Amino acid sequence: MRIHELAKQLEMTSKELIERLQKLNFPVKSHMSVVDEESAEIIKHEIADLENKEIKENVVEVDFPITVKDLAVKLDKKPSEILKFLLNKGKFCTINQNLNDELAKEVAYCYKINLREKPLKEEQILAVEPKDLRKRGPVVTLMGHIDHGKTSILDHIRKSRIAQKETGGITQHIGAYRIELDKGGITFLDTPGHETFTAMRARGANITDIVVLVVAADDGVKPQTQEACDHAKEAGVPIIVAINKIDKSNADVDMTKQHLSKIKLVPEDWGGDIVTVKVSAKTGEGIDELLEIILIQADLMELKADYLRPAVGVVVEARLSKGKGPLVSVLLQEGKLKKADFCVCGLYWGRVKAIYDDRNNFLVECLPSYPAEILGLNGVPNPGDKFFVVPDENTAKEIVRRRKQEIERKKVVAPVHMKLEDLYAKVKEDKLKKLKVILKADVGGTLEAVESALEKMGTSEVKIEIIHKGVGSLLSSDVLLAEASDAVLVGFKVGIEANARDFAKAKGIEIRTYQIVYELIDDIKLALEGLLTPVIKRIFLGRALVKKAFKLSRGIVAGCVVEKGKIQRGVHSELTRGKDVIFKGKISSLKRFKDDVKEVVEGMECGITLDYKDVMEGDYIDAFLEETVERKL
Ligand code: GDP
Ligand code: MG
Repeated sequence: MRIHELAKQLEMTSKELIERLQKLNFPVKSHMSVVDEESAEIIKHEIADLENKEIKENVVEVDFPITVKDLAVKLDKKPSEILKFLLNKGKFCTINQNLNDELAKEVAYCYKINLREKPLKEEQILAVEPKDLRKRGPVVTLMGHIDHGKTSILDHIRKSRIAQKETGGITQHIGAYRIELDKGGITFLDTPGHETFTAMRARGANITDIVVLVVAADDGVKPQTQEACDHAKEAGVPIIVAINKIDKSNADVDMTKQHLSKIKLVPEDWGGDIVTVKVSAKTGEGIDELLEIILIQADLMELKADYLRPAVGVVVEARLSKGKGPLVSVLLQEGKLKKADFCVCGLYWGRVKAIYDDRNNFLVECLPSYPAEILGLNGVPNPGDKFFVVPDENTAKEIVRRRKQEIERKKVVAPVHMKLEDLYAKVKEDKLKKLKVILKADVGGTLEAVESALEKMGTSEVKIEIIHKGVGSLLSSDVLLAEASDAVLVGFKVGIEANARDFAKAKGIEIRTYQIVYELIDDIKLALEGLLTPVIKRIFLGRALVKKAFKLSRGIVAGCVVEKGKIQRGVHSELTRGKDVIFKGKISSLKRFKDDVKEVVEGMECGITLDYKDVMEGDYIDAFLEETVERKL
């Protein structure tokens, strides 16, 4: 075959082909030069490879979706040309129409351009190597049953500790406050309770380092004590127990400790590992000891932050001040926040105009683990939103623009959360072999019965973990916990609180309630079957005979003929020589002449590439589909 004939087959001019062959080190002089059939075949493959490589390297970065008009500018083509191209593909578009990433990439590919989404600046900003790791103070949340004294303890600490060193500033509530002791500082979150705690966690904001579980000594462990304990444990946050109201005549510390042991919070002096402190918010007794223990726990945890990186924090409260505009309380986690920093928070951005502390003092900068109120954002974000500093105004605007765009994109799709049906897929993704369950029942007896039935169902491969259980209706706090920990909500002979129902609906969380225990067990069993490692069934697709092996720069291409069935790109394959299987792996590329194809059927010739270097003439390549079959318990 002559070069000009080969060029014609490759849809290029002889000159172009010769140029390319020179790049590939093929000694060809003129368009009349002759190449033999085998060389021609190799040339075709090499040229296709070269083209792919060139396209890959020819990167143009854009934002998706992109309009036809903008795409035309990026590709340096006339919009009409692109419209025509789309029309040929059977897509009738207008110049201002948005193209999704797939279609836009396809168009670009034809112009030998690799279209890529601009990398997210946000990710780059947040992923920095720590430069200056230093100690930071702990952030503490108080939790416990209602009326056990959370607010009183917080108020007592605040008044006694802050008032002492007060220099005239009035303390203001900004969602958190900081106290300083000789051995270090502690930040307390103002809103006690596990609901806020878990709501924050569900938003991806784990700001609490230590939980202080408040239990009144005259009342002992109550349902919400247990709930708070489960929420803290599920989040993996260490718990310190404050046994409160010890000034009361009917305070019974022993009874309280006994209760605590029952919910697996065994006090140290009872042989367990839970530190308990006896306190009174009324007299102040034991409060200093509590603070000291918090600092000891913090030391054990070696809490650190990078003081040099761009600042990152979490919103704890936000409001609109009539005179000042949006005021945002943040708890700083990393870096130093300074006046005039550009920042992004939720769907807003701004330049820090002023920073105040919890005593209304102006600050020049704010350090990790400190709360601060910030002025300068262009809107009011939500508690739990991440707050972070960016290099400049354009970056801030661009991140917000993309976030808004992402919301628009997601609007179409309902939020997906844990549903029993799709546990299988989820677990496979995460390689998780645990089904988390939140269980509520009508009375204690049935709760225990259902619990033990569920626990027995676990196998060596899958475990059922009841992360929270209780008597009574399913509450919004249960939904929150399910959201934060991706658990399944199960109710037995109980109702769902109206709020919880709406909330679950909005969050896309499924609640299952049952009246008959066997139905409950059956459903969970099905979910567990999905969790089991599936059996893989093979479906034979076809067989190809290797007629020639071409050595190319990227590996070996097997020139084959399909003898039986069909071969598909990307499917599983086996290479056999004589009676031996010598390689198992995917069919990494499949070509007909120079084109990549998805499928080649019986009787046709094709080029197959495997991740294997030693393919030989006379080998067979078998193609399979692998299908997963669910197993029964
Ligand atoms: P919270 O619901 O956990 O925030 O509980 P509060 O702090 O609102 O306290 C509930 C009630 O218990 C209030 O009337 C407090 O005055 C009272 N209280 C809180 N701590 C103590 C204490 O140590 N001793 C006594 N005697 N009463 C307390
Ligand atoms: Mg309170």
